Amino acid sequence: MVAALLPRERLLMGPGPSTVPNRILRALAAPTLGHLDPQYIGYMDETCELMRQVFQTTNQLTFPVSGTGMAGMETILVNLIEPGDEVIVMINGVFGGRMKDNMERCGATVHAVEIPWGQSFTLDQIRQAVADHPQAVMLGIVHAETSTGAFQDLSGIGELLHQQGMLFAVDAVTSMGGHDLQVDAWGIDAIYSGTQKCLSCPPGLSPVSFSPLALEKIESRTTKSRSWYLDVSMLKNYYTGGGGRAYHHTAPINMVYALREALAIVVEEGLQPRFERHREMHQLLRSGLEELGLEYIPDHSLHTLNCVAVPDGVDEAAIRKRLLNEFDIEIGGGLGVFAGKAWRIGLMGESASEKNVLTMLAALKKCLG
Ligand code: PLP
Repeated sequence: MVAALLPRERLLMGPGPSTVPNRILRALAAPTLGHLDPQYIGYMDETCELMRQVFQTTNQLTFPVSGTGMAGMETILVNLIEPGDEVIVMINGVFGGRMKDNMERCGATVHAVEIPWGQSFTLDQIRQAVADHPQAVMLGIVHAETSTGAFQDLSGIGELLHQQGMLFAVDAVTSMGGHDLQVDAWGIDAIYSGTQKCLSCPPGLSPVSFSPLALEKIESRTTKSRSWYLDVSMLKNYYTGGGGRAYHHTAPINMVYALREALAIVVEEGLQPRFERHREMHQLLRSGLEELGLEYIPDHSLHTLNCVAVPDGVDEAAIRKRLLNEFDIEIGGGLGVFAGKAWRIGLMGESASEKNVLTMLAALKKCLG
């Protein structure tokens, strides 16, 4: 006999996943429909429309990729890069580095611009990168670098890139639904996110959106995309209805129900009030952490991910273990160059509440003793 599945109810305040509300868990448990059932197609179309609202875009090609955030990253890159293309990537943490790796796997010549982890890029640094590599066809950057907690201002970049005929690709995995994200106003051509962060949905889908300019690039490719599964030229028929709803792969039906519910919650709360809630909770947490003597690592902190240095002499893993075992609270440790040196505390979606912040601070204070 297999023991009953009884996962504990944890407070998820790490780098993701965040705590999933019951309303979304109930949506997951709704009857599974066929992926070509008109009722399901209706739910899927509504999900794509809700995604447009949260991305603040009118891009028709906006849909949930089957897979987590990394599948979204790969979807953008395998469709927009052809072997031999020159591209620019801005790196200030783990996820910019992963973009570079994936760009190389697509056959691109990659110009990486690196700054110390924890810092954010200035518009001048981006302008310089564009001037240094005028042949590049695309620039990729991370809006919310989860490995360091650094926030990246995206305004002005799209305009700069478009003047040079370059596409603008953005990783919004830890910002969608927690920070303002204006895909159209900021001239973003390709963007991907994840369900398990500020949307408070289980992991499993990656919302993506492509501008008409990005779609033009896809349609004018002279080589096939290196991924069959993530090839947008085939996927778009199923998600947007162009040329009929042709079967490509079986959509993760119940995950789409969950995402639809998660996006409905975001829209019901309202985008601006939701961003404001994340900002207020960040300020509350920040003042509490600073009172405990902890220092923030990034110059410009995200609201959704708070990265602080572990004080000298403190065993960071032991504190995380106590938080988990004694208080059922999950926070994250450092990643990459910050491994063993940082804690990462998420304030994402459902997890970003006053009750959770105060509970976390009280538990951390006790553990720091
Ligand atoms: N990009 C960023 C900024 C992330 O934080 C993450 C995950 O933490 C990813 C990409 C990859 O997403 P996933 O782990 O859902 O594949």
